[in-house]
Amino acid sequence: MAEKVVIIGSGPAGWASAIYTARANLRPLVFEGAVTEENRQAGTLPLGQLALTTEVENYPGFPKGLLKPYLESAIDESRRQMMGPLSDEPHAVTGPELMELMRQQAVNFGTRIITDDIVAVDFQQRPFRLTAREGTVTEAHTVIVATGARANYLGLPSEERFKNRGVSACAVCDGALPRFRNRPLVVVGGGDSAVEEATYLTKFASIVYLVHRRDALRASKIMQQRVFNNPKIEIVWNHVVDEVLGNDEDGVTGVRLRSTVDESTRELEAAGMFLAIGHTPNTAFLQGQLELHDNGYIRLTTPFRTYTSVEGVFAAGDVADDYYRQAITAAGSGCQAALDAERYLAAQEI
Ligand code: NAP
Repeated sequence: MAEKVVIIGSGPAGWASAIYTARANLRPLVFEGAVTEENRQAGTLPLGQLALTTEVENYPGFPKGLLKPYLESAIDESRRQMMGPLSDEPHAVTGPELMELMRQQAVNFGTRIITDDIVAVDFQQRPFRLTAREGTVTEAHTVIVATGARANYLGLPSEERFKNRGVSACAVCDGALPRFRNRPLVVVGGGDSAVEEATYLTKFASIVYLVHRRDALRASKIMQQRVFNNPKIEIVWNHVVDEVLGNDEDGVTGVRLRSTVDESTRELEAAGMFLAIGHTPNTAFLQGQLELHDNGYIRLTTPFRTYTSVEGVFAAGDVADDYYRQAITAAGSGCQAALDAERYLAAQEI
C-alpha cells in the first residue's frame, strides 16, 4: 500500500515535517540517509549539516544551560552515544544534540525511519515511486523533499583535519566561539556569502583576511562597498589557500596562500578559516523529475508555499533555499510543507 507521506532528508526541515505530519495521523516515513563513507566525505550523513557543527546558539528555545539531565531523559538510550559525551557544564545545545532531539520528537509521535538514501524517484506515476540505495521501492501519495545542501570545501587534507577546530563553513554558526575572539581570521571566497561572513566576523576577530582567487569580487556592489569601508577587513587578492596550518593542541594557527598570478606563496597567521565558496544542493537524484533552478536548487512555484513543479511533491529547507539557510528557517518551512501535504491529501480524499 502506498504511503501517505514520505519525507526524504533528516535535517531540521525533515524532522519538523515529520513531527507535524505524524501529529496529523499521516504516519510519515522518513528516509534519513545512509551511513556510508561516501556520505561522510560529501557531508551528507543523516541529520544533515547541523550534525557537523558545534554549539548552536541561535536556535530559539535553547539558551545556554545545563542540558545533560534533559538530554538523558528525552533521548532514547540507544541514540545517546551518537551525540558524543554529554557535557556536565552549562552549554548551548550542540548541532548533534539538537538534531537527536528533533529526531526523537518525531519518533515519539509515531514517525517511522529508514536509514537509507533515496537514489531515484519517478514522479510521472501516481502514486510516486521512490527507489532506495538498497534497491527497495516505496510508493507515496505525497513526498516532502528536505535533502538540504552541503557546503563546498576546498578539498585539502589539512582542511579536513581541522574541521570543527578552526575550519568552518558557517560564520553565523561558529563565529562567536571563544577560539575566534580577538584573533585574526581568514574567509575564503568572493561572493555575497564571503563578504557577508567577513563583515560578520569583524564583530569578533582582530582582523579578517578575505582571500579571493581573482582581482574582483563577485559580490553585489553594495555588499562590496561595506567590505572596502571596513577597516578590520583586508582583502588578499589573487590568492588561494594551499594548506591549512595548525597542530593538535591549538587547531588552526594559519594558512599558506599561493598566488594565482605567479608562483609565490605566503603565510598568514589565523585562528580560523571560514569557507564561503558556495553550497551544492542535494538534488542529483531529482534530475529530470522536478524543476530545478540553474544552480541546482528546487524551484518553488508559489510564493509562501512549498509547492514544486509536481503537484503532491513539496520541498522544505535548504534544498529550495540558497538565501536564508538557517536551522530555524528550515524547520519553519518543514512545518509549512507538512501542512501543505496534509491539505493536498485532504483535497484528494486520500
Ligand atoms: P557564489 O556567489 O557562487 O560565490 C562563490 C565564491 O567562491 C566566488 O567568488 C568564487 O570565485 C569563489 N570560489 C568558488 N570555488 C572556489 C574555490 N575552489 N577556491 C576559491 N574560491 C572559490 O556563492 P555565495 O556567495 O554563497 O552566494 C550564493 C547565492 O546566494 C548568490 O546568489 C548570492 O547573491 C546569494 N547570497 C545573497 C546574500 C545577500 O544578499 N545578503 C548573502 C549570501 C548569499 P569566483 O568569483 O572567481 O567564481
